[in-house]
Amino acid sequence: MRDKWDDSIDDHRLRPESLMMGYGYNPEWSEGSMKSPVFQTSTFAFPSAEAGKHYFALAYGLEELEEGEEPGLIYSRMNNPDLEILEDRLTLWDDAEAALVFNSGMGAITNTFLSHVKPGEVILHSGPLYGGTDHLVNHTLPELGMITVGFCAGESRETIEARLAAEAPGAHLRMVFLETPANPTNDLIDIEMCAAIARAHATGSDRDPIVAVDNTFLGPLWQRPLDHGADIVLYSLTKFVGGHSDLIAGAAVGSNAMIQPMRAMRTFTGSQASPWTGWLLMRSLETLALRMARQQETAQRVAQFLVEHPKVKSIRYLGLLTSEDPQHEIFKRQSLGPGSMISFEIDGGEEEAFRFLNALRLVHLAVSLGGTESLAEHPATFTHAGVSAEHKEKLGITPALVRLSVGVEYYADLLYDLDQALKAV
Ligand code: PLP
Repeated sequence: MRDKWDDSIDDHRLRPESLMMGYGYNPEWSEGSMKSPVFQTSTFAFPSAEAGKHYFALAYGLEELEEGEEPGLIYSRMNNPDLEILEDRLTLWDDAEAALVFNSGMGAITNTFLSHVKPGEVILHSGPLYGGTDHLVNHTLPELGMITVGFCAGESRETIEARLAAEAPGAHLRMVFLETPANPTNDLIDIEMCAAIARAHATGSDRDPIVAVDNTFLGPLWQRPLDHGADIVLYSLTKFVGGHSDLIAGAAVGSNAMIQPMRAMRTFTGSQASPWTGWLLMRSLETLALRMARQQETAQRVAQFLVEHPKVKSIRYLGLLTSEDPQHEIFKRQSLGPGSMISFEIDGGEEEAFRFLNALRLVHLAVSLGGTESLAEHPATFTHAGVSAEHKEKLGITPALVRLSVGVEYYADLLYDLDQALKAV
């Protein structure tokens, strides 16, 4: 039998989709149960007082792990077997040393800022960002003393550097945070360019700039930011990884050095996911590659249908980028597939967009994305309602814009529904 940590047979390396059913779990722990049980417990019994003392010393960094030793389980706010197995499985997709699971995508993103950025330091961030993240970087983090400077897709490195110098003169750049493709416009941000900016501001200190990438829209299948110079990859697991619109969770993956401070922050701010959420996510990971491949295949058909439709004024889908578009070169270099998120403008404004949304019968009118069911929403008044009008206009979040997350339904049924709803416009 293979050891629970084996990721290869002889010298044949197994792909993550082949490892999602068993990696990191040994059925012998649980009466031969093929699947890991839900370890629904808040606390763990110590074999002795001495063992409890050693576990706490490890948790507080007062002692180091011995070679081959695994940290003892203490309390489910620190860790739990369902989360530990899930985290081991999550490392495989991005080929990362470590992963950490949180109670939401926002929990993972907030933890990244709190663990790695101090008041007075600068966060350079891309735009647009998911509405919640936008609020965090434009309101919450500045209130905590962090300096945030934004840039848009398509801006040159020189323009970004000039803005940084103008808006945060003399302050230390600590993090470049990007969301690519961006929610809701599918704008691509060049990860390698952002890594080059970070490196240019490095001085060899332990506060050198790091690059964090929200990989929710394409990851983990169609984009691997660590390969392009990112240090931390973030996920709203609520979306494609969970994939069934039945849980809220997030994750951060990266090197041990990046993740370790975040583990401590998670313990003290209490933002871990529950054992049941961890179990559901392991169930979901088994079909992740199947779902994302099918969703992408259907999205390509949907995009082709929309691009030819007279009631559709413009469409943003990575699979439709042509070589004249500067985004095409970034897409070819950085993405492994176009994914299944489509944004398009209805011919008209908010009224026409609402007519379309209200007429949908198979596609559900709801925020969120990446689930098995197709979802449509109106970014300008739903997910990005909190973004200032000036920013919305600059970022292309217009009143006519609709965001569509393509699910696993039969493609012709989706096309029929979209067509009949467009007739209502
Ligand atoms: N990042 C992106 C790109 C998102 O779209 C979302 C939510 O829509 C989040 C982060 C936040 O994730 P969660 O809702 O799991 O906190």
